[in-house]
Amino acid sequence: MKQVIRKSWAEPYKIKMVELLKMTTPAQRKKALKEAGFNTFLLKSEDVYIDLLTDSGTSAMSDRQWAGMMLGDEAYAGSRNFYHLEEVVKEVYGYKYLVPTHQGRGAEHILSQILIKKGDIIPGNMYFTTTRLHQELAGGKFEDIIISEAHDSENEFPFKGNVDLNKLEALIKKHGAEKIPYVSVATSVNMAGGQPISMKNLKELRVLTKKHGIRIIHDMTRVAENAYFIQQREKGYQNKSIKQIVKEINSYTDGATMSAKKDALVNIGGFLAINDWDVFEEARNMVVVYEGLHTYGGLAGRDMEAMAIGIKESVDDDHIRARVGQVIYLGEQMIEYGIPIVKPIGGHGIFVDARKFLPQIPQDEYPAQTLAAELYLDSGVRTMERGVVSAGRKANGENYYPKLELVRFTIPRRVYTQAHMDVIAESTARVYERRNKIKGLKMVYEPKYLRFFQARFEQL
Ligand SMILES: *Cc1c(COP(=O)(O)O)cnc(C)c1O
Repeated sequence: MKQVIRKSWAEPYKIKMVELLKMTTPAQRKKALKEAGFNTFLLKSEDVYIDLLTDSGTSAMSDRQWAGMMLGDEAYAGSRNFYHLEEVVKEVYGYKYLVPTHQGRGAEHILSQILIKKGDIIPGNMYFTTTRLHQELAGGKFEDIIISEAHDSENEFPFKGNVDLNKLEALIKKHGAEKIPYVSVATSVNMAGGQPISMKNLKELRVLTKKHGIRIIHDMTRVAENAYFIQQREKGYQNKSIKQIVKEINSYTDGATMSAKKDALVNIGGFLAINDWDVFEEARNMVVVYEGLHTYGGLAGRDMEAMAIGIKESVDDDHIRARVGQVIYLGEQMIEYGIPIVKPIGGHGIFVDARKFLPQIPQDEYPAQTLAAELYLDSGVRTMERGVVSAGRKANGENYYPKLELVRFTIPRRVYTQAHMDVIAESTARVYERRNKIKGLKMVYEPKYLRFFQARFEQL
């Protein structure tokens, strides 16, 4: 499949403030990496040149969003910014009721506690770390129902985020619909490499779940990026705006959890949005216990204002074309250098296949973790592991061994330039040149939950 754009993605903005970066030497990076236990999460950001750890909360806000920060109404209850946010969520996303939370996992926590009972099954199009953990903490069990193409980094199917409806039907048959409180559907599936779900698949999923009275909860963290791929690739959507497509996606679901730190261009914030009054009522009660009053959910008024403005900017066609265009620009360079990456190129980053990059390193010696460390050493570019370390352990203590062992180069929105993209591609190519000499790692400290954040390693 031919992927769009090379030069046509130029940014619809100009820069009016810059943040100066520290340039490091190889010796400084070697020392910093050792101190960080070879875990890029434990590096000081000051020691990083180009930070691709995540696209979460790392976007550049617009002058309008910064102006919005000055309009913060910091009243404890009923802040004007909450009502603005509520209105924007309704207008842009189409869901009826809003509960703000400090970030995405706050919404996942509340929703999981309300909808999941012990022994329930939650099918989803590939797991996400915090989402699955909250489902498990509520007594549920996650079942992966993404199409099998998603587990194959070479497969160029344009909608690798699709749900395999046969897998879902089999689960319903096996456990009964009453054991399935909802299907958890992510747009731009993060762990699959930012791969989109098609509108057709979503419509079919709606028909099937409706038949069995099962809700669809949408993880809409990157819904605008998914909408862009639908616009580019799916028949009948070329002339629809991103805004129209986003709203249509949401219309096939019953509610959503949102990390506004991604698509919605803010440094902090999230929410739960739901069409069902009863669930809303309960969520409004719970948010007071865990996040803050239901009209701020752990956020300052100014944060809600920036979010309201960011949501509107996030569904602008020119914005999303430049955002995804920059990611594709980087990915195409990687392909030219012969670096094995997940294809098609996803919406929020490039995912390098560490098993193919470092075939001599077994999964128990953490090939993706190793590669992320080597990239930092080479150029000060910070990436992260999405493989066996991120996958963690099952309830019985065994490791999950995911098929995909990836290094994620996540691109913050509106932050880096084309020259930065060139530096990243050239550095990865340099590490690729000397790949045969690279050895794996051993884990010397393992935290109990979400171990990838704080685990420490030593070189073998
Ligand atoms: C980031 C993310 C979350 C969790 O959101 P936080 O704001 O980090 O708590 C949930 N789902 C997906 C797909 C994400 O990328």
